[in-house]
Amino acid sequence: MNIIKTIPELLEQVENLKSKGKTIGLVPTMGALHNGHISLFKHAKKEVDYVIGTIFINRIQFNNSEDFTKYPRTEEKDREMLEMANCDLLFMPDEDEIYQGMQHINVELGAIGEVMEAQYRPGHFDGVARIVYRFFSLIKPDIAFFGQKDLQQFKVIETMTRQLNLPVELKMCPIIREDDGLAMSSRNMRLSDEAREMAPKLFAALNYAGDLIEFGDSPDQVKSKVHKFIEKFPAFSLEYIEIADLETLMPVSVVKRGEKIALCIAAFLDGIRLIDNIIIIS
Ligand code: AMP
Repeated sequence: MNIIKTIPELLEQVENLKSKGKTIGLVPTMGALHNGHISLFKHAKKEVDYVIGTIFINRIQFNNSEDFTKYPRTEEKDREMLEMANCDLLFMPDEDEIYQGMQHINVELGAIGEVMEAQYRPGHFDGVARIVYRFFSLIKPDIAFFGQKDLQQFKVIETMTRQLNLPVELKMCPIIREDDGLAMSSRNMRLSDEAREMAPKLFAALNYAGDLIEFGDSPDQVKSKVHKFIEKFPAFSLEYIEIADLETLMPVSVVKRGEKIALCIAAFLDGIRLIDNIIIIS
C-alpha cells in the first residue's frame, strides 16, 4: 500500500491513474478503523480498479472540542488493517495540507440540514460537506463509498453532489455490527466495560420501534414508548428517536403501508455520543 501525506504527491498519483484509464474508488475515514470501515474497502475493491482511503480527523466537523481531542488515534493498527484490506493508496494529510486554500462551498441543504444530527450538532454537516468536497476535488473518484451508519451524512453528501453536479457516483454500504448488535464505531473504544455492556440497548430500542410500527402504533406513540424504554437504563441520555421518510429524512407523522422508513436514534452513554439507525419497510 502506498502511503502519501502531501497533495502534490496525491495529484501525481491521481493523474497517473487517470491517464491509464483506471477507475478510482474513495473511502474517506477518520481512522481508528474497525470492520465497519473495512467493509467499505471490500465493497470498493469489487467495483473499481484502484482504491484510495483517507484518514483525516476533520476538526471542523466536531461541534464538541473534547470529542475531537479524545477521538481515538490508532495509526499503526489502521495501516495494518488497510494493508490486509488491499487498499491501494492511503492519503493521510496533516491539517495544514488540507485546510490551507480550502474552499467554502455553497450548498442549500434545506430541511436535511435542520433535523436530527443537524439540530444537535450545529455546524457538523458544513464541516463534513467541505472536507468531502475537498477530497472529491483532489481525488476525482469515480465512486465514493460511505456507510449507512451515518445515514444523514450520506444524504447531505448526496445533496451536495447533486447540487454541484459533481461527477461521482455514491454508494451507501450496510451497517456492520458487533455480535450483540452494537453498530461498530470508532467511539465505542472509549466506552467503559459497563457502558459497553449497556450499549446494545440502542439497537434494541430501534428494533422495538420497528416492531411497534409494524403493530400499527403512530410515530408519536413509538417515540414516547422508546423514551420510556431508554429511561429504564439511566446510563443513557437520549437525544432523539426519529421516524423519518428514507428519501427525505423528514419526520413522518403517519406511517403509510409499504413506505421505506428510517428509524434513527442518538444518545449519550458514559459521556460518549452514539448514533444508530435501521431502515424498514412499513
Ligand atoms: P468515520 O471514520 O466515522 O468518519 O467513518 C468513515 C466511514 O465509515 C463513514 O462513511 C461511515 O458511515 C462508515 N462507517 C462507520 N461505522 C460503520 C459501520 N459500523 N458499518 C458500516 N460503515 C460504517
